[in-house]
Amino acid sequence: MPKPFQKLFSVNSAFSVAKMIVILSIPLCLLVYALAMPSRPVMTNKIENKTEKPNDDLRTRLTPEQFYVTQEKGTERAFTGKYWNTKDAGKYYCVVCGAELFSSDSKFDSGCGWPSFDKAASEKVVDTNVDSTHGMVRDEIICHKCGAHLGHVFNDGPTATGLRYCVNSASLDFKSKPDTENKSDKK
Ligand SMILES: [Zn+2]
Repeated sequence: MPKPFQKLFSVNSAFSVAKMIVILSIPLCLLVYALAMPSRPVMTNKIENKTEKPNDDLRTRLTPEQFYVTQEKGTERAFTGKYWNTKDAGKYYCVVCGAELFSSDSKFDSGCGWPSFDKAASEKVVDTNVDSTHGMVRDEIICHKCGAHLGHVFNDGPTATGLRYCVNSASLDFKSKPDTENKSDKK
């Protein structure tokens, strides 16, 4: 082979090797990307949990009012909910996911027609969001675990916490304390 051709050949083969590498690396990159996808962290807990309970499932599991309040940020009419006047000792759980949200120990009669509490069962179970609908700026409260709308929290509470968690009965599931536990605080 004449020298110039040899040179051309070697340049060409080096070029095709490089081309091969580029061509092969494209599907390889796609494969690596596809494999990496499921292990990527999900943005927030709320999104993760919400996808676990699709709305169709909730529509059959919840009453229309429970669905309207928890999923569509509705509000039940004052003095119509199941628990606004409940005075029994026990705990209030999220009607959607079952997380423990409030205790009867922190419930008080606010006169507003909704179950009212001066604190949540723990700081971590209830999240707040600024809600500027209906021409007001209020702090919406939602279940930390599943994002269900619960009601609002106000800074006019009469107790030491200064807070009034105004909660829809439709967001809650009340379980009274067993009698054995209840002896000391029976009224
Ligand atoms: Zn919940």
